[in-house]
Amino acid sequence: MRLRPLSQTSLRQRLSIGLGTMLVPFLLLACGALISFESAIDSFEKQENIGREEIFPLATVEGLLLDVSILVTSRAERVDANILAEYERKCAAINHQLSIILDSPTQIPERDTSISTIQSQWRNIEALGARIVQSKSRNQNAKTRSQVSQFQGKLQKILQDVQQLNYRLIAFQNRENIRQAQLVRTRVRALVAVIFILAITIAAIFAYALSRSILVPLNRLQEGVKHLGAGNFTYRIQLKTQDEFAHLANTFNLMASGLEQSQQDLERLATLDGLTEVYNRREFNRWLSVEVERSRRDDYPVSLIMVDLDHFKQLNDTYGHQVGDEALCCIARLLRKEVRPGDIVSRYGGEEFAIILPKASVLDCSAVAHRIRREIAIQPIKISSDDRIHLTASLGFASFPYNVNSEEALLHRADQALYHAKRTGRNRVCQAADVLERSVMDL
Ligand code: GH3
Ligand code: MG
Ligand code: MG
Repeated sequence: MRLRPLSQTSLRQRLSIGLGTMLVPFLLLACGALISFESAIDSFEKQENIGREEIFPLATVEGLLLDVSILVTSRAERVDANILAEYERKCAAINHQLSIILDSPTQIPERDTSISTIQSQWRNIEALGARIVQSKSRNQNAKTRSQVSQFQGKLQKILQDVQQLNYRLIAFQNRENIRQAQLVRTRVRALVAVIFILAITIAAIFAYALSRSILVPLNRLQEGVKHLGAGNFTYRIQLKTQDEFAHLANTFNLMASGLEQSQQDLERLATLDGLTEVYNRREFNRWLSVEVERSRRDDYPVSLIMVDLDHFKQLNDTYGHQVGDEALCCIARLLRKEVRPGDIVSRYGGEEFAIILPKASVLDCSAVAHRIRREIAIQPIKISSDDRIHLTASLGFASFPYNVNSEEALLHRADQALYHAKRTGRNRVCQAADVLERSVMDL
């Protein structure tokens, strides 16, 4: 199964996975501690069993030896068959217990040597004890008394050896238990240390991955909001995730698209003329300043053509305003078609248009103006489904810096040229120089 990258899961899933994974070390700790304690208990039990196999028979041997001592030292006046039988039973039991101990596994290597010594010491006095128990008049003669004290002395020695061995076994077992406990402590400490490091590592990795998977989209969203706040409605947030942030980014992008569209609509409304869809007068003014300034800075000419339709009032009066509107739209389309893409066509007011021609000299501008006049004159204007009429226009133009040295003067001289064209008969093109020449001639 292929794991999905963190960024492709939802934020809720990521948080669940993160918190779930952080629980893993604690589960490991619990399992590890359980296993350690179980093995420690096993080890204690094993130790206890071994101890029981060694210590209990030895304690039995000690008890039997004490019983034997009592039997041998009792002051019987005559031979008692029961005592003898009892003595033999005890002896057999002692021998049996000693061989059980020897057959059982041991934890201290010197145990078998000690048991063998005890066994051989016991065998040495076993027969002596039997003889004492069998003698008819114990304690009655010096020989018997000496035998009893000899027996007692050797038995005491055996008892001492048994007790010592017993102490050694118990001490060993205690030491072994402490060793096991220390082992468990060391193991649990090591386990806790390893799991602690593991938990810290997992937590650090997850915290880093989680914070990255949250912070990166958050930064992108913040960046987007900043752009939007600064009025950059074309900015879009790109996220490779498929989570809540991706939904948020999509919503943001939709909102930005809506705002961009609204801005474009507003711009269109603010800059274009509602009827003809060429630039309005305010936009014309702005462009004229921009282009004159650019022309001045980059040292190239900019020309301006003013176009006024001839006898337009008459058209309105004859065919109605709607036809007049249609005619204005038709002329606007024609103007746009006749100029270069970088030229700026605008409706200056009523039936008057203004065209800014960046980088156009007087000669270039003259050619364009004459072409426009000609095209308007031959352009049929539809007044009904069957009837067409023809309009004419008068044009005046001026060029910066050829004719003038300021934006206002450019507008003024082009306007003057236009009215010169009107005055001199309409359907013609006049340029700023014509007006000057005329003025000079008038003088
Ligand atoms: P001239 O040859 O001297 O320019 O005569 P003219 O009739 O064209 O000029 P005048 O200034 O006397 O009249 C302009 C007319 O343009 C008056 C007005 O009804 C018309 N007009 C202005 N704006 C619009 C418009 O948006 N739609 C229509 N249909 N007519 C308009
Ligand atoms: Mg007119
Ligand atoms: Mg006019």
